[in-house]
Amino acid sequence: MSNSSLVDMRILSPNHSGRRNQPITKIAIHHTAGAISAATIGNIFKPTSRQASCNYGIGNDNKIVLCVDEANRSWCTSSSWCDNRAITIEVANSSNGGNWPVSDRVLAKLIDLVTDICKRNGIKNCTYTGGKDGVLQKHEWYANTNCPGPYLGSKFSYIASEVNKRLSGNSSSSSAANTSSLYRVRKSWGDAKSQKGAFRSFENAKKCANVNSGYKVFDAKGNEVYPRKSTSSKNIDALAREVIAGNWGNGGERVNRLKSAGYDYNAVQNRVNEILSGKSSSYVGGKSIDTLAREVIRGDWGNGQDRKNRLERAGYDYNAVQRRVNELL
Ligand SMILES: [Zn+2]
Repeated sequence: MSNSSLVDMRILSPNHSGRRNQPITKIAIHHTAGAISAATIGNIFKPTSRQASCNYGIGNDNKIVLCVDEANRSWCTSSSWCDNRAITIEVANSSNGGNWPVSDRVLAKLIDLVTDICKRNGIKNCTYTGGKDGVLQKHEWYANTNCPGPYLGSKFSYIASEVNKRLSGNSSSSSAANTSSLYRVRKSWGDAKSQKGAFRSFENAKKCANVNSGYKVFDAKGNEVYPRKSTSSKNIDALAREVIAGNWGNGGERVNRLKSAGYDYNAVQNRVNEILSGKSSSYVGGKSIDTLAREVIRGDWGNGQDRKNRLERAGYDYNAVQRRVNELL
């Protein structure tokens, strides 16, 4: 287990439980309820009398302090369940009171740090579901606190989507770098003469295809990679479930993001409506029963009635998942 290379300073806190007893599957984002520097965050958690800590702090000076090694369980979220699973981050405000704002550059730094944590810990999809089953966690779900405050709290969907852009973008750009491949914009792969350009950056290739109607982006092997074909019902299902999980935002934002990612918004939204109306209660798509059962055992879906409600709301067959859980245990 490693720490982030984005760290500017280490002010290690003695306030932690030693090694965490769970793999890292969560990231809890807090606010400091104060406009303070990274060094101040570190110094606050230094005395044993404080009985609190975080893995990382981001100061209003835009610097990152490491307070507790990622391998260790910090004392941050008032929950052993959460802190054993979560990397905890204290984020400084840009001013005190009001909606407890955070500056844009600190928010950008936070997105960089969360992306780095996901990459190093194998979190492939940084979800914010508004509940404990997602990756991003809020302190206020575990204790009587306003943390992370109104402003930062309103940014969780945005943070998740920005992190996921980086996670998917980086994987395609690193594979491009590995094979030194180019993205070609053509009418069809066979029609080499129609080529408008060849790009190292997938984003730039998409922009080129967007302004040339009828043009598509092909990878080095000739696979059509944009616009993404969403003709297979499996794609639509997976997307609809991501939408329900909150990964694509709401309203106009959802429309724009799905369209700009090359998906058929109407088809996805129709599927979302179907799933939510219960017309597909027997359907178990998106994740396999086995994956879900393992998530349930890991604690991602809560217990008892809460578990049943959440699984069914996400469109899954609770009984099938629970049977698999019982088999595995
Ligand atoms: Zn907090």
